[in-house]
Amino acid sequence: MTQVADSTHNTVSDRCLFRFSSRCDAMNGMKTPKTIRETLTAMPNFTVRFPDGTERRFDKDIRLSEVMTRTDASWKESPVAFKVNGTVLGPGQRLSDAAPATDVLVVEPVFFSSPEGQEIYRHSSAHILAQAVKDLFPDAKLAIGPPIEEGFYYDFDLGRPFTPEDIERIENRMREIAAARYVFERKVLSKQEAIRFFEEKGESYKVELIREMPEDETITVYEQGPFVDLCRGPHVLSTQHIEDFKLLTTAGAYWRGDERNPMLQRIYGTSFPTKQALEEHLQKLEEIKRRDHRRLGKDLDLYNVMDEIGAGLVIWHPKGALIRKLIEDFWREQHQRHGYDFVYSPHIARLDLWKRSGHLDFYRENMYAPMSIEGIDYELKPMNCPFHIMIFKSHLRSYRELPIRYAELGTVYRYERSGVLHGLLRVRGFTQDDAHLFCRPDQIEQEILKVLDLTVFTLKTFGFSEYEIYVSTRPEKSVGSTENWERATAALESALKSKNMPYQIDPGEGVFYGPKIDLKIKDVLGRSWQCTTVQVDFNLPDRFDISYIGEDGKEHQPIMIHRALMGSIERFFGVLIEHYAGAFPLWLAPVQIKVLPITDEQHAYAHEVAAALTAAGYRVETDLRSEKIGLKIRESELAKIPYMIILGKREVQGNKLSVRKRSGENIGELATTAFIEKLREEVTGVSG
Ligand SMILES: [Zn+2]
Ligand SMILES: [Zn+2]
Repeated sequence: MTQVADSTHNTVSDRCLFRFSSRCDAMNGMKTPKTIRETLTAMPNFTVRFPDGTERRFDKDIRLSEVMTRTDASWKESPVAFKVNGTVLGPGQRLSDAAPATDVLVVEPVFFSSPEGQEIYRHSSAHILAQAVKDLFPDAKLAIGPPIEEGFYYDFDLGRPFTPEDIERIENRMREIAAARYVFERKVLSKQEAIRFFEEKGESYKVELIREMPEDETITVYEQGPFVDLCRGPHVLSTQHIEDFKLLTTAGAYWRGDERNPMLQRIYGTSFPTKQALEEHLQKLEEIKRRDHRRLGKDLDLYNVMDEIGAGLVIWHPKGALIRKLIEDFWREQHQRHGYDFVYSPHIARLDLWKRSGHLDFYRENMYAPMSIEGIDYELKPMNCPFHIMIFKSHLRSYRELPIRYAELGTVYRYERSGVLHGLLRVRGFTQDDAHLFCRPDQIEQEILKVLDLTVFTLKTFGFSEYEIYVSTRPEKSVGSTENWERATAALESALKSKNMPYQIDPGEGVFYGPKIDLKIKDVLGRSWQCTTVQVDFNLPDRFDISYIGEDGKEHQPIMIHRALMGSIERFFGVLIEHYAGAFPLWLAPVQIKVLPITDEQHAYAHEVAAALTAAGYRVETDLRSEKIGLKIRESELAKIPYMIILGKREVQGNKLSVRKRSGENIGELATTAFIEKLREEVTGVSG
């Protein structure tokens, strides 16, 4: 399947672009040839210090792979590369490539299990992919081939998409290249030499990349047998070390992520040092596919996104809408308990409002074009905040009233490029479970604590109890006093500490208007999803000039906190579908019980049972078709209905129910009252 990939939103690929730019020497710390020469004349040999503390003298031209054969160190896995005085080098590189300033070199192994090791391994795999494609399609032009999380890709200008047959041939050719044991050899070229070299090969994308580098830049290429690619390295020793790999998908991708550039053909793949690791990974990918909310959304008839309506605009079908209603009911009930007031706001507002809020300046690229109504410009809302502020502003406020908490399931519209839209996870119209808290500075911590309590309870109710938490601190460009920033950041941290919630600091990653807590939930497959955000805001209270009368009788500016616990209902629903693989817990299942009479003779009893369960508050369907019971059961299982009640002669006679779970487990015979009691326990056990 071909899909358009968007590399502008792919931070991993952005990071990898700098392999070809002058900005980052982190990967191999190259110096200019002159410096290397000077260093080498001064130091013909090096003392290498191994991780175990032992030292040995080596010739400057020895390869690291050989250095390592001469230590007694033994490791659980074989190193992918080495750190020499902190600089990462491939095993094929020489001690002198580290261009060291001292003659004592501390050499440490880099393993596949480290992020650096994986990058090097996957990056080397991408070279093999490129070589295979050039062998089979000599006219294909090479673009870039970075490692990404869990794999790698390479972009080619081919003029047409790759077919599944192409991919199979490429994979086979890759195996031959791996078996050929080509050593990755590093070569240094001047900028002019490199341009000439790639121009002769017709590699115009490489030439473009080289031209952008500074004049005195040392350019390295890597040779593996007959194939040469522009690259900073480092790589594994030889193609043979890429043991197990698999090409996964293809996609169209614009050169440099810009739709004005040519469309390239991207091949994604992954690779692992052992067959078992690769197989486990492929199984995980299968599981991800099986859980894909777009597929389950169709199969279970939950929602749809249609061209006729517009990209990124979701319609909720009855079963999905029912789940949404349950989520919203839960949300409302909890917010009421936690002292929130509910408010509603319109979907459009005058452009002036967004000017005042600053969204027009800071958020314009995500906003739609204004519409003119009776000569006044209006704008579709990208946020709910200004409305809540206007409600706050509608009265004179006293310190006694604070904190004020306004909550709204507010639907917002944000412009996202069509290339990044993705099912329910990335859409153009969505509903935030939004709230704005207006409080005195001394109330921040207590309010954050309450928000954290509500967050933990909410997420746990939906089956998430593992998270990653980040506190983002003051960025370079920001508004608000130092005192306020320090106070608010300390309040966020101290609230997390007192809740025993471990967090990491994201230095300088706060929004310009205040520090924030971001919480990512971990799903059943261990994937992280950005979900909850709690943001302190010193900016909007100022822009809208809101105040309260303090104890001293003077006007003071309240602190504002924006917070969303689930984030967006659409996205949260998408995550829920994948987390549960569509098998929602009893309290969320659109149909909770299916009553399945075996023959027509049990219809009357089926009606009676269904009526009793419905009266007890459960969502019940009865299947009265004269189909075989096996088929009815299978269909109910596919629809992931939690309970099936199978009614035959025996059940009618005994006035009992035969209960079966969607997992296939038989619970056995129960009286209707006993079954209802069991359901009640299961529901209250989860949703409080
Ligand atoms: Zn490379
Ligand atoms: Zn807000």
